[in-house]
Amino acid sequence: MNYNLKSKEHALALKKLQEKIGYTFKNEALLQEALRHTSYVAEYPQLGKSNQRLEFLGDAVLELVLTSYIFDKCPDSDEGILTKIRSYLSNEEANTDYTRKLELDKLLLLGKGEDAANGRNKPSLLGDLFEAFLGALYCDGGYECAEKLCLSLLPSMEDILARFPKEENPKGALQEFCQEHNLGRPTYELLSRTGPVHKPLFTVRIVLGKKEMGRATGNSLKGVEKQLAGEALKSLKQILMGQSQEQERQVVVALDFDGVICDSAGETGMSGWKAARKIWPKLFVRKVPSPKALQAFRQVRPFLETGYHAILLTKMLQEKLPFQEFQQNCQFHFQRIMDENGLDKQELIRIFGETRDNWIQENEEEWLGVHGFFDGILDALNALLKSNCKAYILTTKQERFVLAALKSRGVDFPAENIFGLDRKKKKEEHLLDILAGKPSEVHFVEDRLDTLRRIEAVKSLDCVKLHYATWGYGTEQDNLDAADDKRLTVHTLQDFNRWLSNI
Ligand SMILES: [Mg+2]
Repeated sequence: MNYNLKSKEHALALKKLQEKIGYTFKNEALLQEALRHTSYVAEYPQLGKSNQRLEFLGDAVLELVLTSYIFDKCPDSDEGILTKIRSYLSNEEANTDYTRKLELDKLLLLGKGEDAANGRNKPSLLGDLFEAFLGALYCDGGYECAEKLCLSLLPSMEDILARFPKEENPKGALQEFCQEHNLGRPTYELLSRTGPVHKPLFTVRIVLGKKEMGRATGNSLKGVEKQLAGEALKSLKQILMGQSQEQERQVVVALDFDGVICDSAGETGMSGWKAARKIWPKLFVRKVPSPKALQAFRQVRPFLETGYHAILLTKMLQEKLPFQEFQQNCQFHFQRIMDENGLDKQELIRIFGETRDNWIQENEEEWLGVHGFFDGILDALNALLKSNCKAYILTTKQERFVLAALKSRGVDFPAENIFGLDRKKKKEEHLLDILAGKPSEVHFVEDRLDTLRRIEAVKSLDCVKLHYATWGYGTEQDNLDAADDKRLTVHTLQDFNRWLSNI
């Protein structure tokens, strides 16, 4: 089958081409020559030369036009990049594209065999055709004329630069990127080759380390690999960029334990009773407090600052002191009871800790079971641990108790982030240590108003965002005072759980 235009149609098409480019050949023989493929000349040697000589010339013209153009347009690019850009604009694919834009392929004169073999669509042939045409134009109209045509066919400079320097060679760019970030070497695995011989279909996957980064199918193996490399590069960049943004923005949430996470009044009341029983066995006959006694303890829980106070509060309850005495003279009574019984703080801490340890040793399950956790807080805590925030617990409890209680309820809190009594530091000191890590944001959540006030008094902790928990062991007056304190964000349990889950 011969697709060469008949001579009349050909002559008409030549005219149209010249109109299209806005240039009329003075010597049309040059134009004719540019359109004659060697296969055509082999059949009709009497009609003249093939386009190979003009192609040779056009190749050089194109190189000069492009070199000069990108040299001017890319003053900051080195010669390596300029070479890459020039080859991108003058490779077979580009030249084929110019040929098609000018519709020179329709004008090409091919030998019968070549035409039947679909030569009119062969990129190598079409690329040469453009060069031959450019050579002819240069011969006939001079450099400026050739240059004008060339530049009219190029993609915009913006589009060109958008592809460089990396995207022109995505496989190379990906390899470079992986090396830079120690990600190993990407490999391309041919999964299948299907379809007819002249139009094969390749399915390829790209693997980095042991992970598949993607797979694609296409007619050209090289093209599919390029596509996969480009996509993998894009997604790796996004992942790394996301990670670095996270690193830059480190949010810290430091939480008090008792009264914020754990409703420990029951456990503290029981431990207080057991410890008091060791000191005053005759006064505390029952092994464990009655539900009524436990309820009474719960009411005075706000006046407990640290564990061993549980013993003293239990004693005060046993003395049946009016509630007002707890409210107003707690410290006085603590001291009075210690004096009357020859006890000091260290002794009480020892007895209280020992009581708890014994209880855990005897019946850990029972000990864990008396810990209450505020509604929804464990889920919110787990959500926090899954987030990008760093979570700490600052507590006056011993760390091992906190860890065990949380573990028993399915919260795997990092032990190294629980700062407890064992470290012999105040919460404000822990917060200063946390700030030394230069996080971008620090939140501290506490149910004791006086602790928050102590933190407010430390100038270098001004940047710490303070949250007051109304569901803990603060008194009603504390809740009112907290609401008046502009530095504090006052939370109900429900809104706090939401905040913690979404931070
Ligand atoms: Mg607390």
